[in-house]
Amino acid sequence: MNSKLLNGNIWDTDPELFDIIKKEKARQASGLEMIASENFTSIPVLQCLSSCLHNKYSEGMPNQRYYGGNEFIDEIEIMAQKRSLEAYRLKEDEWGVNVQPYSGSPANFAVYTGVVEPHGRIMGLDLPDGGHLTHGFFTATKKISATSIFFESMPYKVDPKTGLIDYDKLAETARLFKPKLIIAGISCYSRCLDYKRFREIANENGAILMGDMAHISGLVAAGVIPSPFEYCDIVTTTTHKTLRGPRAGIIFFRKGLKTVNAKGEKIMYDFENKINQSVFPGLQGGPHNHAIAAIATAMKQATLPEFVEYQKQVIKNAQRLCEGLKSFGYDIATGGTDVHIVLVDMRNAGLSGARAERILELCSIACNKNTVPGDKSALNPSGIRLGTPALTTRGLKETDIDNVVKYIDRALKLAQEITKISGPKLADFNKIIETDDAIQKKINALKDEIENFSRTFPLPGYDNY
Ligand SMILES: *Cc1c(COP(=O)(O)O)cnc(C)c1O
Repeated sequence: MNSKLLNGNIWDTDPELFDIIKKEKARQASGLEMIASENFTSIPVLQCLSSCLHNKYSEGMPNQRYYGGNEFIDEIEIMAQKRSLEAYRLKEDEWGVNVQPYSGSPANFAVYTGVVEPHGRIMGLDLPDGGHLTHGFFTATKKISATSIFFESMPYKVDPKTGLIDYDKLAETARLFKPKLIIAGISCYSRCLDYKRFREIANENGAILMGDMAHISGLVAAGVIPSPFEYCDIVTTTTHKTLRGPRAGIIFFRKGLKTVNAKGEKIMYDFENKINQSVFPGLQGGPHNHAIAAIATAMKQATLPEFVEYQKQVIKNAQRLCEGLKSFGYDIATGGTDVHIVLVDMRNAGLSGARAERILELCSIACNKNTVPGDKSALNPSGIRLGTPALTTRGLKETDIDNVVKYIDRALKLAQEITKISGPKLADFNKIIETDDAIQKKINALKDEIENFSRTFPLPGYDNY
């Protein structure tokens, strides 16, 4: 098994695959990454992910494993738990944490499986309004998310005029629907959530309040936006978005004394066993120990002053991006942002989300098309979602964002120019892009300029892979 072919460096053993990895690295270095859920993780996180920890099976919880040889794995998982609590300033007797979920979606499903009975009722922000698939998305003809297949999900929505969550309507629907669990969490919403109001609505209906801070967990750790922990019973998160850790998920749950009832009896929280058993053996097998170690080191980073500065800069950059785009006449949903997300409404610019996304991609700016408040169809979204975490990791500051705004505007003006020739059909728009020499020249010139700009900012991680 020690033959050079089986155990040499990947550049020697599998150059065909390694070449593709290098191309991806070059793509990451030359583009402007503005997908709001993405980030560039650090070398220590990458080193954990490719370490020997990957080899070990450790089903069960620390000190209660189904396999031997786990003394160091136990140490690491306990360290990851402890640091996760510390990063969010939580007390060990009030909060427990499970760091084993493979990612954010399995973490959410583990919570529902553990604390909501089959076909129990769940409310989450609707997907077209900025919620996540796992919050229960379904359409008129199809249950899309497993959350809507195995549970009864009811969406709440944003006000189509203001773009803000309609808490009054949520309260009204919750009174009728009587959910067992309400989710306060977003994938595309640029304002801070009113966790206090969520708590009141949950209390009125005897519901569990779950915060899903997948997008904002870095901002919360840095203390630069309100924390879901003050009001929620359970908090889930991914660790690879603003938090800048490994691709993984975590569940925090309250434990200890919940309340004292009228008879003077102590009522305790009962989430711990339900959630831990739901993760394993309910839904998962062996924990990904390499990812758990990477969580531990990411959580250590999250307590550093540099990390707080980074998160502040993420928000400053997002706000600068908003102001810049507005100065060029673009509409921003809700008028601005409190976080790392900017939702641009393309309707007044005469473009669809798909056209905007396509032209930006051709110019090496990555983002995604997204529904905006008031959109009639989720299939043809009118906006794009932009985010600043990845660019900020590369060191861009406000004045650099001003340049990014100019690039975005020039790309979108190109899309308007193409639309003038192509007319309303997306297929015709794409055809012009593929066949019109003059248009292609303009796109490529802008792309070259953007790539040269992008390459001046360093990318964390290994040098060339
Ligand atoms: C990204 C996200 C998830 C899912 O995370 P994955 O790691 O992609 O499974 C869950 N909830 C919210 C709010 C998210 O934004």
